[in-house]
Amino acid sequence: MREMPPSHPFDDDKLKEECGVFGAIGLTDAANFVALGLHALQHRGQEAGGIVSHDPEVGFNSARRFGYVRDNFTKASLMDTLPGPLAIGHVRYSTAGSKGQTQIRDVQPFFGEFSMGGAAIAHNGNITNANALRKELIERGSIFQSSSDSECIIHLMARSLQRNIPERMKDALRRVEGAFSIVAMTRTKLIGVRDPLGVRPLVLGRLGDGWVLSSETCALDILGAEFIREIAPGEMVVISADKGVESFQPFERTKPRFCIFEHVYFSRPDSILGGRSVYETRHAIGVELAKEAPVDADLVCPVPDSGTPAAIGFSQQSGIPYAMGIIRNQYMGRTFIEPTEQIRNMGVRLKLNVNRALIRGKRVILVDDSVVRGTTSRKIKQMILDAGAAEVHFRIASPPTAWPCFYGVDTPERSKLLAANMSEEEMRAYLEVDSLKFISLDGLYRAVGEAKGRNSEAPQYCDACFSGEYPVAPSDMIANGFELKAAE
Ligand code: SF4
Repeated sequence: MREMPPSHPFDDDKLKEECGVFGAIGLTDAANFVALGLHALQHRGQEAGGIVSHDPEVGFNSARRFGYVRDNFTKASLMDTLPGPLAIGHVRYSTAGSKGQTQIRDVQPFFGEFSMGGAAIAHNGNITNANALRKELIERGSIFQSSSDSECIIHLMARSLQRNIPERMKDALRRVEGAFSIVAMTRTKLIGVRDPLGVRPLVLGRLGDGWVLSSETCALDILGAEFIREIAPGEMVVISADKGVESFQPFERTKPRFCIFEHVYFSRPDSILGGRSVYETRHAIGVELAKEAPVDADLVCPVPDSGTPAAIGFSQQSGIPYAMGIIRNQYMGRTFIEPTEQIRNMGVRLKLNVNRALIRGKRVILVDDSVVRGTTSRKIKQMILDAGAAEVHFRIASPPTAWPCFYGVDTPERSKLLAANMSEEEMRAYLEVDSLKFISLDGLYRAVGEAKGRNSEAPQYCDACFSGEYPVAPSDMIANGFELKAAE
């Protein structure tokens, strides 16, 4: 059996969503609403955030900062520099150890000045042909200011011959491959776009006389905004004071492939996705898991917080009592960004602590949302055993993650994914647990509402990190030597 590489001591070994976007129009000091929206989307990205606003008298203004929204975009001294009724914003995720490499110029939104006026754009997702586009654009004279793939869109817009910015954006996005949910703004318009497959979420809300666009509905709730609808896959909405919401279809229609992992882990449990509560879906995953992989035990415990709804579902289906056997320190944050050796050795115990009195002598089922490299799972198992558990059984609320994501989620390279290198029994032995079971892909589809499971001829979701079947070929990665799954 292969030994897996060590991880960063505070890396919780999860796939990381890379971005959240929010936009508002028709609201006094719209940037304040955007800041609140971004705060509610902070789980989608914690490294940095940015806001661009427009005021008819002072023009465009922007602020981009490292750190949490609450630590930057709550200060009057900063928010006073972002006046106007129109604003967009972005939160960005940091890959492990990348903060030192990320420059503030990589923090979105990006801004471009065109002959017909300025435009700002913020993007959640990943452009899978960005390298090829960047090379082509540089050869044709474009000068890039950042290392972000999203900047390609601004340069493609600059080269378009269309006469207004929404038309230029349509032109640009027809050249782009991959996953993108975009919020953008001109001096008078708020624009939202989803890629033809609709991989990443984007929703429309109403707040008083204004409109908001958000990655998730949980950010509407914080503002008291009314959820109107999801932006449809392949749809562009252009929102203005005079025309309200106009809808366009710039792309050829195709069957949607929404990211199924948004249901499992990325989105907040209080959000609504595809008309379904994320919490209810995760609860249903736990029910399916208990049907597929029952085990005789005394307690069902979630690995907090993301395993909690599935653990409740597992407990209710199995009749085995639910217990908070592991307690999460909610205030870990970035407190120990440069840990001392002593703190480094504490590792996962800084984030999670075992409730010893509950665990001692018990056969424990631990429900987690995923296993990526397995590093944290091993540590948690050891903590449970150290607390006196008699047995440890892992039940995982997603299928084995055996393939990297190229659509806006930070994933280790394939060689570091436990499931890419080991069978389920090998993973069980590596984690040194009494049993290990993952929900099947069919079971996951049933939990998200597809009663017949996964249609293998025409999958209803993107599930590439489990199946290896990529709905959009990751052309840059293939050019760099990435090998797609061989046809069966
Ligand atoms: S590869 Fe996985 S994480 Fe990435 S979009 Fe598809 S389902 Fe989501």
